[in-house]
Amino acid sequence: AKKCGKNGYCWFEPQMENELQFRNALETGIREGLVNGEFVPYYEQQIDLENGELTGFEMLARWHSPRLGVVAPDVFIPIAESMGLIAELSEQLIEQALEDAKEWDADLTLSVNISPLQFNDPWFPQRLLKLLVKANFPPQRFEIEITESCLHDNVALVRSMIVSLRNQGIKVNLDDFGTGYSSFAQLRSLPFDRIKIDRSFVSAIGREGGASQIVNAIVSLGQGLGMPITAEGIEDDETLDNLRALGQLKGQGYIYGRPETIEQVRERLEGLGRL
Ligand code: C2E
Ligand code: CA
Ligand code: CA
Ligand code: CA
Repeated sequence: AKKCGKNGYCWFEPQMENELQFRNALETGIREGLVNGEFVPYYEQQIDLENGELTGFEMLARWHSPRLGVVAPDVFIPIAESMGLIAELSEQLIEQALEDAKEWDADLTLSVNISPLQFNDPWFPQRLLKLLVKANFPPQRFEIEITESCLHDNVALVRSMIVSLRNQGIKVNLDDFGTGYSSFAQLRSLPFDRIKIDRSFVSAIGREGGASQIVNAIVSLGQGLGMPITAEGIEDDETLDNLRALGQLKGQGYIYGRPETIEQVRERLEGLGRL
C-alpha cells in the first residue's frame, strides 16, 4: 500500500496488505517513538503584517520515524488521540519546545496547538503550568491554540479553563476560526486573546467570490470583540497585500517559508540578531 499525507509525505510498505495492519504498525511506531524521542518540534514564523517583523513561532509536531521517514501531524495526532497518548505526546513536544524557545530573544513568543482531548482535562491548566515552571519559561511568552471543537456545550466550564490559563499569563487563541460550529454567543462569552482565521478563507482571497468579504467580516468581528486577528496560510504577495489593507493583522504562511527545524530557526534568529 502507498500512503500519502496531504503535505506530500509519502511512504511505501509493500508488506502491509490492509488498513488494519497499517494502523497497527502506526500504533506500535507511535509507542516506540514516544519512548525513543522521535517526535520533534518544527516551527512556523508568525509575522506582524504591519512592519513585517517576526513576533514568534508556532510549534508544529513532526514524527521522525526510523521506518516511515518524516510523518505529518494529520497522520499521527488522531491516532495518538484514539490511543489515549495525546497528552503525553504533546507534553513531550512542549518540553522540547520550551527548551528551544528559551534561547530566543525575550520578545518572541511560542505558540502550541492543543487537542480537544487535552483541553477537556480539568487538570490541563495545572499540567501546563508545571511544564512552564520546570522549564523556567515566562508564561507571558507562551500561547495555546485551541479549535472550535474544544468549545463544548458547557460554556461555563470552557470559560473557567480559559480564565484560569489567562490568569497565569498564558494567552489562549482560537484556531481555525470559521471551520467549526462556534456561535457568536460563545465567542462573545469566551475571552480569547486572539482569533486565527483558517487557511481555507485566506487562500481563497482574490480567487473565490465572497472570501475576502468573509475575512473582512471576521476582522471586524475581532475588532468589535477586542480580539486581534492572525491570518494563516498566506502564500503570495497579492493575498498579503489584501490582508494588510484590512487592518493590523498578524500573519503566517509559506510566503515566509516552510516550518523549520530548531537548527534552521537558530540560523534565522542569528541572522536577525535575535538569538
Ligand atoms: P494548523 O494549526 O492549522 O497549522 C497550520 C498547518 O498549515 C501546518 O500544517 C502548516 O505547515 C500548514 N501551513 C502553514 N502555512 C501554509 C501555507 O501557506 N499553505 C499551506 N498549504 N499550508 C500551510 P502541519 O504542520 O501539517 O499541521 C497540521 C495540523 O496538525 C495543524 O493545523 C494542527 O491542527 C495539527 N498539529 C500540529 N502540531 C500539533 C500538536 O503538537 N498538537 C496537536 N494537537 N495538533 C497539532
Ligand atoms: Ca494552529
Ligand atoms: Ca488551520
Ligand atoms: Ca538576544
